[in-house]
Amino acid sequence: MVELKNIKKSFGDHIVLKDINFSVGKNEVIVIMGPSGSGKSTLLRCITFLEEPDDGVIRLGEFELKAGLPQNKQRKNTIRELRQNTGFVFQQFNLFPHRTALENVMEGPIVIKKVDRQQAQEKAIALLSKVGLADKMNQYPAQLSGGQQQRVAIARALSMEPMVMLYDEPTSALDPELVREVLLVMKELAKEGMTMIVVTHERGFAKDVADRVVFMENGLVVEEGSPEKMFDTPTEERTKQFLQVVSEKKQFG
Ligand code: ADP
Ligand code: MG
Repeated sequence: MVELKNIKKSFGDHIVLKDINFSVGKNEVIVIMGPSGSGKSTLLRCITFLEEPDDGVIRLGEFELKAGLPQNKQRKNTIRELRQNTGFVFQQFNLFPHRTALENVMEGPIVIKKVDRQQAQEKAIALLSKVGLADKMNQYPAQLSGGQQQRVAIARALSMEPMVMLYDEPTSALDPELVREVLLVMKELAKEGMTMIVVTHERGFAKDVADRVVFMENGLVVEEGSPEKMFDTPTEERTKQFLQVVSEKKQFG
């Protein structure tokens, strides 16, 4: 479903991604962990060319894009397809502040997919109900808790019917008591077969939901494997040190 081949990215002379290779199958859930500054966010941004890699190839379903080639119309179209088929959920929820929850979720399909208003509204209602916000649809973001805002953001990403959902530390900005409601929604989506790449340090979520855990450091994938292997019997010393420090308190479920 998603494939990253030899992805490299520098900012000036700072090499942030050295040579990243991994792939995510349909219905798979990948959790990426690693110290701050290891390149996790840059990697997610590279998947949608929000950050253009210096080198390498990104494939999403039938769309394939090689980095470092001159811009042309076909390339722009492919970048648009990559973005439209990817749901991105950020640490900061990034909702439109002057639109209600419902309007936030309707926006993408109406503006980008030219879906008619009635249809977009019906779908948005269904999605907000799915994330447990049927009674909050007409609230503005400022009237919602962080956990509720993040669930609106998830519904908004789903409204575009993405092939894959990318989450960049979706619960890191939340008060501890609000983390669980967001993880539960993500877990539910995973159960329904959504393909997901999740940057998170929620070890309990990773254990419960991830098919594979990828440990990154200094722009490289140090090790990847099943959650059991990665948490209990990692091969690399660095993986062991880091994943054991990730708070055992952050249990999920
Ligand atoms: P992580 O998400 O793992 O914490 P990031 O991908 O955000 O790591 O950042 C990796 C490194 O790249 C950091 O040293 C960061 O300062 C640097 N970086 C990220 N984005 C930019 C940018 N737009 N310009 C310059 N440096 C950047
Ligand atoms: Mg980050």
